[in-house]
Amino acid sequence: MLMNYDVIVVGAGVAGSSASYYLAKAGHKVLMLDKCKFPREKICGDTVTPRGVRVLEDMGVVQKLEGRFKETRGVKIYSSKGGCSVTDFPAYKDYPRRGFVVPRIELDEILKNHASQAGVHFLEHSPVTDVVMESGRVAGVKYSCDGKIFEETAKFVIVAEGASSKLAKSVFGIDKKDFRATAIAIRAYYEGVNDIDDYMEIYGEDAILPGVGWIFPQGNNVANVGVGIYLNDLKKENYNVTEILDRFANSTVHASKKLKNAKRLTQVVGKKLYMGGVKRAVCDGMILVGDAAGLINPLTGEGMMYALESSKYAAEAIDSALRTNDLKTKPLEGYQKNIDALFNKYFTLSTFIVRFAKKPWIVNSSINLIKRSKWLGELNLRCWISIN
Ligand SMILES: Cc1cc2nc3c(=O)[nH]c(=O)nc-3n(C[C@H](O)[C@H](O)[C@H](O)COP(=O)(O)OP(=O)(O)OC[C@H]3O[C@@H](n4cnc5c(N)ncnc54)[C@H](O)[C@@H]3O)c2cc1C
Repeated sequence: MLMNYDVIVVGAGVAGSSASYYLAKAGHKVLMLDKCKFPREKICGDTVTPRGVRVLEDMGVVQKLEGRFKETRGVKIYSSKGGCSVTDFPAYKDYPRRGFVVPRIELDEILKNHASQAGVHFLEHSPVTDVVMESGRVAGVKYSCDGKIFEETAKFVIVAEGASSKLAKSVFGIDKKDFRATAIAIRAYYEGVNDIDDYMEIYGEDAILPGVGWIFPQGNNVANVGVGIYLNDLKKENYNVTEILDRFANSTVHASKKLKNAKRLTQVVGKKLYMGGVKRAVCDGMILVGDAAGLINPLTGEGMMYALESSKYAAEAIDSALRTNDLKTKPLEGYQKNIDALFNKYFTLSTFIVRFAKKPWIVNSSINLIKRSKWLGELNLRCWISIN
């Protein structure tokens, strides 16, 4: 069968646009589809840490962020009785010593345009509804546009649909119970936030434990403010996201001081996070990347770095398969090996830490200890931002 494209990428979020960019740059014919019209909102904390910035540098995107968006230099971690530990991003291997806070409506637009400039054919408002199968192998997608159904074929399909991916479910049989953990993450934007600077701020305060809060500065005293909490730690099933965020803003020792005079600019919104990776992310003709593969850290809820990196590895695996014209699953196994080797250790460590980091006395004494030693602070931060 003659294929229309080398690769079809489903989803134009952080993962889809970066995978598309890398493949188009390598000279392949790429179609990227998204169900939304761009620019589009994405509920997120908007923070990219150094390992993600390293991929953005590699893609040549970082120049488009510099001077326009807030750069961060490290992390402050607060606990109610343990105070605050302040740690700058350490000089470690080739990781940049900065992060960025970029509203997703802007970051995803920049990444999507970057992919288009590299030669990617982008179709918005085009939800993919199913895959096309050919001799037992994924060989394209069906999508709808303006009420009509279309079909496009390709040698490979990358699924970058984000959380609750329909194709991950229909092709791989991935179900919600296949993830290591599920959380709800809630956020709103605030203006007039006191005493914030160039640090990401994380809060393990008694009033919101076993959840974790954040204040991520965007400049001019505007911040992305949120809370993440495991679903099975919520006492009632019909939880109220505004109530949870209000508890963070009003009942904490440290965060409440910063948010005392702040005004909420947007509605409080929440989204589920399926975290810790899935067992299989490749099959004949198809690869899962980013949230579609559950690549979110179970401790921090960080997903953009994993989305960026997994997409780069997926593009490398597909590029080498296309170059050798080997369309079997085997060349894609390199991708599976990479994500297993490079991410699983962080997911396992984070899952272990989460078990203990829910009790106030443990969080308070840990912060008390960490803040006294630069070495411990850096070790802790390197676990948080997955650089070891
Ligand atoms: C409240 C909250 C705070 C967070 N904070 C952070 C943070 O500060 N830092 C961080 O690194 N991570 C954070 N995350 C996680 C982060 O948002 C995700 O890990 C990241 O967006 C994953 O990118 P992705 O490209 O895989 O998926 P997405 O960004 O979700 O993109 C998926 C795209 O696919 C499209 N799509 C879906 N289905 C179809 C279909 N059938 N056909 C066509 N298109 C489709 C969607 O429209 C979307 O554009 C947070 C998440 C939440 C909910």
